[in-house]
Amino acid sequence: MENLYVVIPCYNEEEVLEKTKKVLEKKMTDLIRKKKINKQSKVIFINDGSKDKTWDLIQKFYEEDKLFGGINLSRNRGHQNALLAGLLTVKDDADIVISMDADLQDDIEVMDEMIEKRNHGADIVYGVRNSRKKDSFFKRTTAQGFYQVMRMLGVDVIYNHADYRLTSKRVLDSLADYQEVNLFLRGIFPLIGFKSDIVYYERGERAAGESKYPLKKMLNFAWDGITSFSVRPIRLILNIGILILVLSILMILYSIIQKVFGNTVDGWTFIVCSLWLLGGIQMLSLGVIGEYIGKIYSETKARPRYIIDKYIVER
Ligand code: UDP
Ligand code: MG
Repeated sequence: MENLYVVIPCYNEEEVLEKTKKVLEKKMTDLIRKKKINKQSKVIFINDGSKDKTWDLIQKFYEEDKLFGGINLSRNRGHQNALLAGLLTVKDDADIVISMDADLQDDIEVMDEMIEKRNHGADIVYGVRNSRKKDSFFKRTTAQGFYQVMRMLGVDVIYNHADYRLTSKRVLDSLADYQEVNLFLRGIFPLIGFKSDIVYYERGERAAGESKYPLKKMLNFAWDGITSFSVRPIRLILNIGILILVLSILMILYSIIQKVFGNTVDGWTFIVCSLWLLGGIQMLSLGVIGEYIGKIYSETKARPRYIIDKYIVER
C-alpha cells in the first residue's frame, strides 16, 4: 500500500471547489477502505493566486478534514507552474502522486485503474481522453492539430493526454532535475522515461465555473510547448512577417493580373513578386529565430518558477 497525494491546481475555482472536494473525499475514503492506498493519503489544493475565495475554501477544508491540505502560491503563476509547485512540494511525503484539474473534467473513477497499473510496475500512468465529444468543435480541432504539429516537430507527447496522470516518487525526483523555466510538463514526463502505462477515460464537461484557459491562453500555451517561451517585441516581428507574407500573396496576384492585362513594363511582375515574397519570408524567419533567443533569454535568468507562501498539511 502506498501513500497517495492528489494535487490540484486551482485558479478562481470557488464555484466548483466544494463539489470537487466532496467527490474526492468519497473517492479517497473508498480507496483507503479498499486498502488500495495508505491511510495517510492526502488531497492537496494549490491556490494559484486566485482573486476569489478559493484559498479561504481550501483552508476551511483543511480545518474540517485532515484528508485535505493546501499550498498557497505568492501570486498567479499559471497552471503549469502551480502544478509543478504541487508535485515538487508533496513528493517527499508521497509514494505516488496523481495530478488533476479542479473542474472534475478528468474522470475520477479511473484513479482505481491508475493505481492498479502502478501496482503492476508502472512509474507513470497517463490519463488519455478517448473522445472529445464534450469539447467544442473549435477546441477539439485546435487541440488535435496542436498534438499533430508537436509530433511533426519531433516532440514526444502522448496524444490527447493533458495533465491527468499518476507519477511515482522517483519520477518526481527526476522531474526536480529539469530546471527549465518555460514549463511544458506533458513534454517532460515522456523524457524522464521509466515504465509507463495509459488509462483511457471520457472527458466530461466542467462541473461549474468557466474555463480558466480562454482562447488566448490556450494559443499561448500551445506556442510555449513548441518554442517554450516568447518575448513580446520579438513576437511582434513575427506577426509583421506573417502580415507581409499575406500581403505579398495579394501583391503577387495583383501583379500577375496587371501582367495579364498588359499594364506592365517587362520584368516588373517578377521583381515585385520576389520583393514581397522575400521580404515576408525574411521577416518571418527573423521572428522565429527571435523566439528562440527570447527563450534563451528567460532560461538564463533562471528565475524561480514558483514561490510558496504557505503549505498546510497534517502529516
Ligand atoms: N489553473 C491554474 N492557474 C491558471 C489557470 C488555470 O492553476 O492560471 C488551473 C485551473 O484552476 C484548473 C486547471 O488549471 O484546475 C485547468 O484549467 P481549466 O479547467 O480552466 O482549463 P480547460 O480544461 O478549460 O483547458
Ligand atoms: Mg478544465
